[in-house]
Amino acid sequence: MSGNSYDYDLFVIGGGSGGVRAARRAAMLGKRVGIAEEYRFGGTCVIRGCVPKKLFVYASQFSEAHEDAAGYGWSFGERSFDWPTLIANKDREIERLENLYAANVAKTGAQIFNTRAVIEGPHEIRLQEEDRVVTADQILVAVGGRPNPHPGLPGAEHCITSEEAFHLKELPKSILILGGGYIAVEFANIFQGLDVDTTLVYRGKEILNGFDDDLRHELHQAMVEKGMTVRCQDTLVAVKQLPDGRMEAHCDSGEVRVVDQVMLAIGRKANTENLGCEAAGIALDTRGGIVVDEYSRTTAGNIWAIGDVTHRVQLTPVAIHEAMCFVETEFRGNPSKPDYTTIATAVFSQPEIGTVGLTEAEAAKAHDEIEIYKTSFRPMKNTLSGRSGRMLMKLIVDAASRKVVGAHILGADAGELGQVLGIALKAGVTKDQFDATMAVHPTAAEELVTMYEPTYRVRGGETITG
Ligand code: NDP
Repeated sequence: MSGNSYDYDLFVIGGGSGGVRAARRAAMLGKRVGIAEEYRFGGTCVIRGCVPKKLFVYASQFSEAHEDAAGYGWSFGERSFDWPTLIANKDREIERLENLYAANVAKTGAQIFNTRAVIEGPHEIRLQEEDRVVTADQILVAVGGRPNPHPGLPGAEHCITSEEAFHLKELPKSILILGGGYIAVEFANIFQGLDVDTTLVYRGKEILNGFDDDLRHELHQAMVEKGMTVRCQDTLVAVKQLPDGRMEAHCDSGEVRVVDQVMLAIGRKANTENLGCEAAGIALDTRGGIVVDEYSRTTAGNIWAIGDVTHRVQLTPVAIHEAMCFVETEFRGNPSKPDYTTIATAVFSQPEIGTVGLTEAEAAKAHDEIEIYKTSFRPMKNTLSGRSGRMLMKLIVDAASRKVVGAHILGADAGELGQVLGIALKAGVTKDQFDATMAVHPTAAEELVTMYEPTYRVRGGETITG
C-alpha cells in the first residue's frame, strides 16, 4: 500500500504536550493527521503535572508572603486558607487550557478522536470508543506515563500519588511523602507552605539525586528550617489504615508515623500496558518503556515514540523538542536528532532550584581542572522581613577552555534565572564574558557577573583552595 492509500499520513496516540505538537506541525505541513486522546487534551503537564503543580506552588507561597509583609509595615487580619476554593479555581484554569489545546489542534485541520486507541498492526489503530480500525502510514506513540503505584509496598492501596493530590476533597493536616525526586520535593514544599505537617522520607543519602550537592544540602536545610521533617536513608515498609481513616506509616528504621495521608512519589512508569506494542513489533525496555533510536523511531520502522513513554528525559520541553525533530525527520526530509545536552531545569521547591549543565561532581570527572565560583547571601527582600533564608549561586568553569559548564541557583525565581542561563551556556559562554557583563543593580542575579575570583579549584579530583 502506498502512503496515500492509508486513512492518515500520521496517526498520533496521546494528546499531551509531545503528541499535540507533532500533530499540529504535521497538519500544518498539509499532512492528513488523526490524533486520539483517551482522557483529556493537555496530558500530564497540563492536566495533572507542571501546570496545576505551579498553581499549587503559588498558593503555598502566600503564607510566607503574609508573614514577610509585617516587616514592610503591613498588617492583615487572621490568616485562613480555603482548599476547595483553590481546587475549584485550579480546575477552571485547567479546563480552559485543555479546551485551548484541543482547539489549537482542530485549527490545523488534524482530526481529533476522544477515545482510547490501541495498535493492532504496523499501520492499524483501533479506536476503542468507536469500535473501528483506522490506518495510517506513520504512527506516533506519545502516551506518556503515570506514577509508580509501588505494588510491593503492603498498604500501597491506601496511599495517594500526585494524581490524587490534585483532587483531594480536604487538605490533610499531616502528610508523609515517600521519594526524594522532583515530585516528592515539590509537593513536600507545597504542603508545608499550606501549613500541613509534612514529613519527607527518602531512601538515599540526600534528596534530589543527580543535582549539585551544594544545592541538595542547602535545600534540605531550608526545608528543615521551615519546620518540615526530612528523613534520609529510610523508606516505607508498610502503610496501615486506622479505624479513624488515618494512616499508620511504618518506616524501615522502625519509626511509625500516624498521618492523614501518605503520598508516593517514587518515579513514573510508561503507559505501554495493553497498547498493542507486541502486535506491531515495538520493543520495550525492562521497565516497559518504548525503545527508540536517536531519531525516536521504534523497532517497528514506521512507528515512532516520543516523550515520557520512551524513558528518556521526562520533561515537557524535551517531549516537545522530540516532536519537532520527528516532524523534521519524517515529513520535511531533514533528519534531526533531539539534542539532550545542556537542558536547563527547575525544581519548584521553596526555595526554588534553577540549574543547567554539569554538577561540580560531574565537571570534576569530565575536566582536568575546574574553577568553582560560589556565593551564598541573604537576599535583600529578607532584610526587612527578617526571614533567614539565603540564596546560593554557583558557577562551574572548565579552566582550560574558560567555558562555564554548569550554573546552579537556589533561591527566589531560580527557575526563571535557569532559563536565561540555559541560553548562555548553550551558546558556550565563557567566564570572561560573564565578567565583562555589566551588573543589573540591585538584583540578586548581579552576583552571577561579580564573582571575579574562584572560591576554589578542583584539579585531578582534588580540591585546591587559595
Ligand atoms: P524522580 O525520578 O525524580 O524521583 C523518584 C524518587 O523516588 C527518587 O528519589 C528515587 O530514589 C525514589 N524511589 C524510586 N523507587 C523507589 C522505591 N522503590 N522506594 C523508595 N523510593 C524510591 O521521579 P518523580 O516521580 O519525582 O518525577 C518523575 C519525573 O517527572 C521526574 O524525573 C522529572 O523528570 C519529571 N518532573 C519534572 C518536574 C520539573 O521539571 N519541575 C516536576 C515534576 C516531575 P533514588 O534517587 O534513590 O533513585
